[in-house]
Parts: sequence; C-alpha cells; structure tokens
Amino acid sequence: MTDPIQYIKPAVRSISAYALAARTAPVKVNQNENPYDLPPGLKRRVAEQALARAWSRYPEFHPRELVDSLAAFSGWRADGILAGNGSNEMIEALLLVTVGPGTRVLVPEPTFTLYGLLTRVLGGELVRASLGPELDYDAEELRRLRRELGAPLTVVCSPNNPTGGLLPAEDVARLCADGDGLVVIDEAYHEFSGQTVVPLLARHPNLVVLRTFSKAMALAGLRVGYLLASPELVREINKARLPYNLNFFSQVAALAALEEWETLRANVERIVEAREGLLHRLYRIPGVRPYPSKANFVLFELVEADPRAVFGALCDKGVLVRDVTSYPRLSRCLRVSVGSEAENEAFVSALRHALEEERFRRAR
Ligand code: PMP
Repeated sequence: MTDPIQYIKPAVRSISAYALAARTAPVKVNQNENPYDLPPGLKRRVAEQALARAWSRYPEFHPRELVDSLAAFSGWRADGILAGNGSNEMIEALLLVTVGPGTRVLVPEPTFTLYGLLTRVLGGELVRASLGPELDYDAEELRRLRRELGAPLTVVCSPNNPTGGLLPAEDVARLCADGDGLVVIDEAYHEFSGQTVVPLLARHPNLVVLRTFSKAMALAGLRVGYLLASPELVREINKARLPYNLNFFSQVAALAALEEWETLRANVERIVEAREGLLHRLYRIPGVRPYPSKANFVLFELVEADPRAVFGALCDKGVLVRDVTSYPRLSRCLRVSVGSEAENEAFVSALRHALEEERFRRAR
C-alpha cells in the first residue's frame, strides 16, 4: 500500500503546524491574554441566558444582534461586518476567498505566523517585507514592494505581534490609495494603541480590518472575532464562513462584553500604564533591550545571555513567557505579555535573577 500522506498537498507537507507547547505556570504571560477576567456578575448573567435557551437548537445563522452592536461599537455599517469564531476564523475565510495557487501575499516579517501558514496551505506565494532597523514598520518599503509586485493582498498587523510596532493611519491610507490590491489591517491589539483605521473604510473600498475579543475584551476562551470591510467584499468573504460558526454562548458573551465596555476600557488603561512601567523597568536592567510597544506585550532582546536558557530559567521560577527565537531577526528575543501588577513584579524579579544566574554560569 502506498503512503496515504502522499495525498496531502506537497505545500502542506513542507510546512510546520502553528503550535504552542502545552506548558502552564503560576505566572502565565505568554499569550497576550488579558490579566483581568470579566466581572463575575456578568459571567453569571451570560451563563443564565445560556441556561434559558435550548442547547439542542442551532445558534442564529446571522448573529444579527451582535453585528448591530458591533456596528454601533466600531462606527462602521452592519452590512460591512462579519463575526466569527475568533479572528483566526475570519483570517481563514478572507484568505480562502482571495488566495489560490501562485497568489502573492505581501506580509512584513516577523509577524503573526498564521497569515504565512494559511497562504502556503492555499498554494499562495508569501512575499516578505522586512521591518526597519528598530523592528518598526518601514512604510516606504511596503509601498514599494506592493507596487512592484502588484500584490493582490497585503497584510499588516498593527500593532504588530510580536514586535509591538504600529503602522500610522496616514501610511495605511497611502498604502490603500497606492494600488487596487486589498490591504488587510489586523487590529487585534488596537485598543492598547489608541489608533484604529476603521474610519478609513468609508474612503478605501480595498481596506479590510480584523479585530478580536480575545485581548482587550477579555474573551479569549470563548473565541469571538470580526471583520470589517465594504458590504461588497463582506458578501464574498461570507461565502467561505462556515454555517453556524459562532455558537450562541459566545454570541451572548460578546454582547455582554460590549455592554461592559466602560469597565473593560478602564482595564485597558491599567494595562497600558503597566506596559509603560514594565518598559521603564526593563530599560534599566543591564543586558536587556526592550522594544517600544503599542500593544499589551513587550518584546525584549537579551544582549549577552542565551535567550533559550533564560526562557527555561524563567519557567523554573514559575514565569512562562513566549520564546520567539525562531522568528526571523528575533533569535535573541523573548516576548512577555503585560500582566497584573503582581505578575509584572514576579516577571521582572525572575528575569533579574535568571540573568544573574546566567552571568554567573558564563563566568565559571
Ligand atoms: N491576529 C493577531 C495579530 C494575533 O496576535 C492573534 C492572536 N494571537 C490573532 C489575530 C488571533 O486572535 P483570535 O483569538 O481572535 O483568533
């Protein structure tokens, strides 16, 4: 019998899966999650609504109430919004309807790896734009490459994961006006940046914006995301959305989170303040070089110490950060999410100790 694996597309066989080691720790600052859970009263209300409903029935085919609330929340028209099971699912739907064999997808690197992975699964050609010397966006380079390639799709995470850099709205507008290809701005972390490009949607029919409930909205466990674009584009992207993709529990929870936005916004402000505090503390640790961030995480370079050894030492001390050393240009870097005050304190203290131990080990 021949190997059944031969029937898997060669492009798929040649890539590695999107994976995260199943580790856990008392201080878990590796996934850019919100350290502040939703208020218990709100969770109870959501659970009660779910209990009052028949679980044997499908959820709404079009989550109309949620989409209307998202329209009011975002300031964009309801017929230009698509909601789904995490923004990951919206990314998939978008790429399914735009990327085929040979389609060129322009993506700055390093960035969120799912775009590259799905592009390859679909047979598209990933074209990488490099970031600037400080791992910031190089808007001119992006424009030049996009024009040169005539790229049907350009994807920019703003703020970027894992670097934390932002592409200013003026540059996004210029990028959109510069050619017909779609410009996808992934705003998973926009609440922490003070910038959104949603107002540009009215003027740029080739702009697509992606957002999530997993970060500022504190709902990562329930998987809700949404896409904003022109109604014409949304009608097409909707064709690749799986029927009943958003379960009723998540729909109710997302609506409740939107109603609770004032509380959530206050937490976002706390996180932003804590991010700046964390940056300042990291700047003062010898051998650590943090990069400025507009998101709820900080990327930092270890100038001398071995980042993998430091990652392991932090784990031993109960602090789980993200090892990003396999990303292009980040072979000396780790990423830490901004946690609660106690978590940030535990991380900084563990990092200081880990670096001291490393220095001692190397000196021997
Ligand atoms: N986009 C970016 C830039 C991200 O960092 C992430 C999550 N790590 C996502 C999208 C996916 O988010 P969701 O939980 O909504 O699928």
